[in-house]
Order: sequence, then structure tokens, then C-alpha cells
Amino acid sequence: MSISPIDKLVHSLSRLPGIGEKTAIRLAFFILQQKSNYARELGQSLLELHENILFCEKCQNLTQNSPCKTCLDPKREKQLLLVVETPQDMLALERSHFYRGSYHILHGAISPLEGVKPEHLKIKELLVRIHPEQIEEVILGTNPNVEGEATALYLSDLLTPLGVQVSRLATGLPAGSGIEYLDPLTLQRALEGRQKMAS
Ligand SMILES: [Zn+2]
Repeated sequence: MSISPIDKLVHSLSRLPGIGEKTAIRLAFFILQQKSNYARELGQSLLELHENILFCEKCQNLTQNSPCKTCLDPKREKQLLLVVETPQDMLALERSHFYRGSYHILHGAISPLEGVKPEHLKIKELLVRIHPEQIEEVILGTNPNVEGEATALYLSDLLTPLGVQVSRLATGLPAGSGIEYLDPLTLQRALEGRQKMAS
């Protein structure tokens, strides 16, 4: 039995975050009602996403060129590294205009419930940066929730023996909240108030 193109599109769209089946159907019919150029352009940009976007060899952010612009910026403090879960978290921190060090993006957090193990994250890529890049301090900026805390502890155990100072964003961040949703001032305070992690 073959699946109609509409059903296929509805299925793909309904997998997007925040899009239920109803919305997926509405979007699919909207696309169908546009001139065929629209669908072609949309399809083209979706294809290019994976063809032209890659992980930065240093910070693991998504970029068109590796190393990315942030890693190549000579005005950034190279000895200070802030570890975050997602590119969206990094964007939120950049919007606060306070942090001037470098980043490392894990692309998730350890979550046994969701089957996310350390090897699924960019942890190896973090560890190999410490000595060659002469990193002096790593700030763990994972989210203030169960997964984020577990990830921070796991990383602290791996990083401390490498002789690098490990700190955690200040507590006092609303529990369960995500870094990406915090306002610039809260993020600035969390950075200023960061605390050394006990090893
Ligand atoms: Zn980079």
C-alpha cells in the first residue's frame, strides 16, 4: 500500500516540536495551496541544512565553516570555556553580551530516561580541547534540572583530573528552567556568581 505525498508530509511535519497532527495537516495543505516554487524552495533549504551545515571542529556549534566565527574571534578569551547543552543556550548567553570566553556545545544532556548516554554527547570532543587549547577554567552551564545537574557532575569528574578549574553557574537559577529561556540579567548574575565545583 503506498502512502500519499500529503500523508507523508503530515507525518514528517507532526514530528517537529510543538506541531501536533492537526497543525501538520494545516501546514501541509497550506504548502499545497502555494505556487509550486514555494515547495521547491522549502525542499531545497531542507536539503541544504544537512549538506552545508556542519559541527565546528572546536566548539561543536552548527556552522557553515569550521572553525566557526566565534572560535576564530581574536577578542575572545581562549582560556575560559563555557559548556552548554544546545546552540540555543549559547545564543541566549551571547544575547546577554556579558560573557567573552569560548564555548563548547554538548548537544544534549545525560538522561537515562530518554536513553541519552554520555557517548551520545560531544564530551570526548570537549576533553581533547583542554590541553591543546590551554584551557584554565571550564564553566558548566548545563540546565538547572535533573539531567543538567547529572551532566555537570559527570563532566566535573572527568575534567578535574585534567588539572583544569571546574565551576558551575550560580545556583539560584529557577529550578527546572532552561538556560535558553533566561533573561540576560539573570544569566549575567549566574555567570558572575559561578562556584567552583567540589571534586
Ligand atoms: Zn566553534
